[in-house]
Amino acid sequence: MPFTAPRDVELLIEARWILPMSDGLPTLEHHAIAIDGGHLLGPWPISEAPQHVRPARTLHLTHHALLPGLINAHNHAGMSLMRGFADDLPLMTWLNEHIWPIEAAHVNPDFVAAGTRLACAEMLASGTTTFADMYLAPEAVVPVVEAAGMRAQLCTPLIDFPTPWSMDFESGVRQTEALQARLGHHPLISLALGPHAPYTVGDESLNRLREAREHLALPIQMHVHETRDEVDQGLAKDGKRPLRRLFDAGLLGPHFQAVHMTQVDDEDLALLRETDTAVIHCPQSNLKLASGFCPVARLQAAGITVGLGTDGAASNNDLDMFDELKTAALLAKGVSGNAAALPAMAALALATRDSAKALGMSDRRGQLREGFDADLIAVDLEGLNSVPVHHPASAAVYAVQSRQVSHVWVAGSARVAASEFVGLDRQALLEEARQYEHALRPVAGNVTD
Ligand SMILES: [Zn+2]
Repeated sequence: MPFTAPRDVELLIEARWILPMSDGLPTLEHHAIAIDGGHLLGPWPISEAPQHVRPARTLHLTHHALLPGLINAHNHAGMSLMRGFADDLPLMTWLNEHIWPIEAAHVNPDFVAAGTRLACAEMLASGTTTFADMYLAPEAVVPVVEAAGMRAQLCTPLIDFPTPWSMDFESGVRQTEALQARLGHHPLISLALGPHAPYTVGDESLNRLREAREHLALPIQMHVHETRDEVDQGLAKDGKRPLRRLFDAGLLGPHFQAVHMTQVDDEDLALLRETDTAVIHCPQSNLKLASGFCPVARLQAAGITVGLGTDGAASNNDLDMFDELKTAALLAKGVSGNAAALPAMAALALATRDSAKALGMSDRRGQLREGFDADLIAVDLEGLNSVPVHHPASAAVYAVQSRQVSHVWVAGSARVAASEFVGLDRQALLEEARQYEHALRPVAGNVTD
């Protein structure tokens, strides 16, 4: 028995299983974890919890697994309104002939806010509590994320040509600086520099990016080696692979989040490892655009941090991280020819602990352990598709559907309870999104019948 009196806490959650995703903490059965002041206490065996805490309320989740809230490490949330707008196309045709023209014609702060509202609701309902976003008009995203009560790393979009947000690269950097000053130390939102890709950012801009990163002390998230064409064109234009060009510009490091990396040769692998650069894997987007396969098992074997993201709904076409981590697990096996590649627990780690590490948040998120942020989810494993449960990690990766997410807490506040939103109007979100079916149609000449 402890010598101190039990501590008063807001909530105690008793669960059939807890997957802490934490070093030194195995999968737990019949354990409890407490929430107070936005942080976690425990876990303890259910029978021992009264020795530690006196909860104002207790929730009994008798056939559920508790997990850390999922972390979607790469998204373009505002693009949710372009879901299904341009399918079955390769990356550059998709971007040049469809996405960039529609953005020039339609995207403004209202569009971005509406798309992000839809995205936040979809992500919360499917168990995501933190996401990295890279899209136009990040100022419009801030109040939407606040209203949804999620956490976000907003990557400001930096590119050499004019967009609805910035005239050029330099004006994007200046707007990033202004947004950073406005946000200060925000409890839910952090910033990153979001240069689009090596092929849309010239050498002068890369130098400016390095200066800005040093001055603003922000991480960088960038699409890198998304396709083989990108690498071939980089070789033809610069005489080196794009990752090497970023290294030579002094940009790689633990603060750098390289999204996609479907092309990895031995030198790339060495550069990633030596600089401790993180990779963000987006398997469904890569499959849909036929971009290639990120060699996750090979990267992990080399000690490289790999996080997981959905990419935007225009190339996925959903933001379902349970779906994504199952794809990641299956793809890793198919690509390596090894059924043991990316086993269930490692796939769950991609979407939790490893994504937190890739985004520089591993000291407070991505694991269920004492003192960490109370960002967690409950998944009801009592489904026809998920019983019997021989191991909750197997169920969560290979069998669960995201509609089995029953509870979501962010910073200790319930955002989904008993499978219903807390504070979001599902009907209003559906109606707002439907308005864009008509708004986008006149420009959507590619829609196939
Ligand atoms: Zn992307």
